[in-house]
Amino acid sequence: MLSSMSPMAKYKLVFLGDIYVGKTSIITRFMYETFDNNYQATIGIDFLSKTLYLDDRTVRLQLWDTAGQERFRTLIPNYIRGSSVAVIVFDVTNKQTFDSTDRWVEDVKNERGTDAIMVLVGNKTDKVEERCVTTEEGTAKAKELGAMYIEVSAKTGDNIKTLFKQIAGGLPSGE
Ligand code: GDP
Ligand code: MG
Repeated sequence: MLSSMSPMAKYKLVFLGDIYVGKTSIITRFMYETFDNNYQATIGIDFLSKTLYLDDRTVRLQLWDTAGQERFRTLIPNYIRGSSVAVIVFDVTNKQTFDSTDRWVEDVKNERGTDAIMVLVGNKTDKVEERCVTTEEGTAKAKELGAMYIEVSAKTGDNIKTLFKQIAGGLPSGE
């Protein structure tokens, strides 16, 4: 079969969002099905790859984890430029991280213009008591951006696989 001989589609996903929102934890949960309560600072930029088997095709995802610190911020536009998807993460228990998604969106638009594929992710849904950003607020912002919206918990693993499947499923094939 010709299709089985064609090279597997590869996509770069760049993870953006303020420090401490859970970017590294989401990637770690997806890659290794583990979670660490201790904070491990991401230094600069890291990347990991994983093959995802969808119903109708197999894709290779390259996950670029970024650090939120200002001193690394100037590196980020280069990674956005080479990416297929920007995954913008905020913490549903921290309103400020939700507000600053606008800044990250701005960065993506500056590099990718209107062809940017963006996904807005609300993380830490397990912290029910401390929650201060609602599903409605997340949905409304994503709609404004023309982005997909999903809520996850890297801690429990809730919706993590769905997040990646939805991203991969929404990607144009043959990129
Ligand atoms: P990053 O700076 O965006 O990469 O954030 P990290 O992935 O390093 O996570 C920052 C802190 O939040 C760490 O202490 C994690 O253990 C914690 N954390 C990340 N995701 C979750 C989550 O879904 N639920 C809870 N309760 N804590 C989380
Ligand atoms: Mg990190």
